[in-house]
Amino acid sequence: MNQTPGQLFVVATPIGNLEDLSARARRVLAEVAVIAAEDTRRTRQLLSSFQCDTPLIAVHEHNEAERVPVLCERLAAGEDVALVSDAGTPLISDPGYALVQACRRRGIRVVPVPGPSALLAALQASGLPTDRFAFEGFLPRKAGQRRERLAALAAEPRTLVFFESVHRIAATVADLATSFGAERPATLARELTKMHESVVSDSLGGLAAALRAGTIVERGEFVLVVAGNVEEQSGGLAEARRVYALLIEALPADAALKLTARITGVKRNALYAALRA
Ligand code: SAM
Repeated sequence: MNQTPGQLFVVATPIGNLEDLSARARRVLAEVAVIAAEDTRRTRQLLSSFQCDTPLIAVHEHNEAERVPVLCERLAAGEDVALVSDAGTPLISDPGYALVQACRRRGIRVVPVPGPSALLAALQASGLPTDRFAFEGFLPRKAGQRRERLAALAAEPRTLVFFESVHRIAATVADLATSFGAERPATLARELTKMHESVVSDSLGGLAAALRAGTIVERGEFVLVVAGNVEEQSGGLAEARRVYALLIEALPADAALKLTARITGVKRNALYAALRA
């Protein structure tokens, strides 16, 4: 007899405020046979807030590869499974990609149960353009890779969203100010939906100074939203690229760069970053 397969529910959970757990998320978490959770102790706390005792199985970045076949077997045998991460939306800088991919490949239905995510929460309060944006997750930790990534992003015209840990937030904002220019507008969102929530908009240089001075406290969780490169948006960089391409035929690179900046008004470091990207 052919067994009807179960469904994988990808369930978003609160990023701080328990009231953000949707009624549908509660129902699904209570009804499934098992919940695949990044940290079972943390998820058990969430479940106990609404008297739910669904069994849990740990699925995190270190064991996801071995847990995927086990969960797929259970799904194939007809059990429904929910996937949650510690907080927010699974797969957004969190485990779950391998499981979702495996389910889709096997024809197992993947059902999103949308809800909180620090990414959208920060963006929706940022006051920066939301019509187009790029999510960059965490920047590389190694200095060289980080510099390269930032140079590649300096000309990006869309709003950029970065996650960062409390240990690196000050260094990251300072690095961004250096790579994108201290004047670039940005918003630093801290402890979203929690008691000490704060959302501060300033230039990157201003935010770096506020972190140095302790006006923005280095405690809790942070999302940084950075305005896109407006010179690129207005076509300024495209024109600068054209001028540079002409000048470089007759001048050394340094002189061509300097003269292009003077002719077009595009900042030298923005042009340099765009040419390297
Ligand atoms: N999947 C999660 C989501 O959708 O929100 C994100 C997980 S990622 C491992 C954790 C990062 O998200 C933190 O380092 C921080 O950058 C951001 N974050 C999570 N909760 C936050 C909050 N309440 N306030 C600000 N940032 C938060």
